[in-house]
Amino acid sequence: MLIVIALGGNALLERGQRPDAAIQRRHVRRAARALAPLAAEHRLVICHGNGPQVGVLALESQSDASLSRPYPLDVLTAQTQGMIGYWLVQELTAAGVDRPVAALVTQTVVDDRDPAFHTPTKFIGPDYSREEAAALAARYRWSVAADGPRWRRVVPSPEPGRVVELDTVRTLIDRDTIVVCGGGGGAPVAADASGRLSGVDAVVDKDLTAAYLALALGAHRLLVLTDVPGVIRGYGTPQAEPIRAIDVDELTRLRFPAGSMGPKVEACQRFARASGHPAAIGALADAADVLAGRAGTTITRAPRRPGGRPAHSSPASTGPNQAAHLLEDPLWTR
Ligand code: ADP
Ligand code: MG
Repeated sequence: MLIVIALGGNALLERGQRPDAAIQRRHVRRAARALAPLAAEHRLVICHGNGPQVGVLALESQSDASLSRPYPLDVLTAQTQGMIGYWLVQELTAAGVDRPVAALVTQTVVDDRDPAFHTPTKFIGPDYSREEAAALAARYRWSVAADGPRWRRVVPSPEPGRVVELDTVRTLIDRDTIVVCGGGGGAPVAADASGRLSGVDAVVDKDLTAAYLALALGAHRLLVLTDVPGVIRGYGTPQAEPIRAIDVDELTRLRFPAGSMGPKVEACQRFARASGHPAAIGALADAADVLAGRAGTTITRAPRRPGGRPAHSSPASTGPNQAAHLLEDPLWTR
């Protein structure tokens, strides 16, 4: 199978942990060990997050007195693609993956009139107390929001359009290469009137970019691996209860927070709905079990036509890209 994996930035740097390189590399090593068994059997595209990491770089840039202005987030996202991609390439190989692994710096086209520019939702950087967050917001003119009980900086997160380097990704997959791409959602770029692309100050959600990649590449599965065991109904309440399997339509009726579980659920819905293949959300450590449906939350689309073909074809099938029609949709073709 071709599997697109969305790998959580928060699973590579736990909340409250020092962002030291050695600590992050240890997490990447653990991630690589969890992914190596999948790499032995399947073709993989890995799309990592960068919320904690891009936040570290943004803080450094903001406090660098030699700069006349901090580096924009598209540039910092490209930097995190290099850093995390480099770690993943090394650690996947060290974990016994015996195929080439390549990390690509990729760009994601966004609409610079996306309403998301007026309502920041994407959490970046460390968490703070409410008072600390308010002080930083005043000092650096940040937007801040509650991420669970703690507060974090939030930045605009426009919808991903297309991934500029899609054909290169395809070429590498066809050459049996594991591809790390779309990191941090991809460096966001917008086209001017003449079609020229240039960077914008935002961070795209990598879960949505992963859904785009999964559909555009005709993947058989989308796996969203993070720091919780799956989707929880009534999260944070005494009635909290894990969801093992759910139909896309039923999932639509539930509500999830923007900037964390919201985009994961949305990504899985888009993929399952358009492709008919299952998507799953679960803990990084359980990667193989999440793929097998033994752990995490599996999201499926019920068969559409009574007596028709099942909702998802056999895992081994490599038919035409069922999602091709979706790429005509304005959401993906901006
Ligand atoms: P990642 O870096 O993997 O993208 P996020 O922080 O964006 O991680 O999303 C995962 C977080 O979503 C979890 O750590 C959890 O705190 C939060 N979350 C919010 N609602 C839910 C829910 N209903 N079920 C599970 N986790 C949830
Ligand atoms: Mg996230």
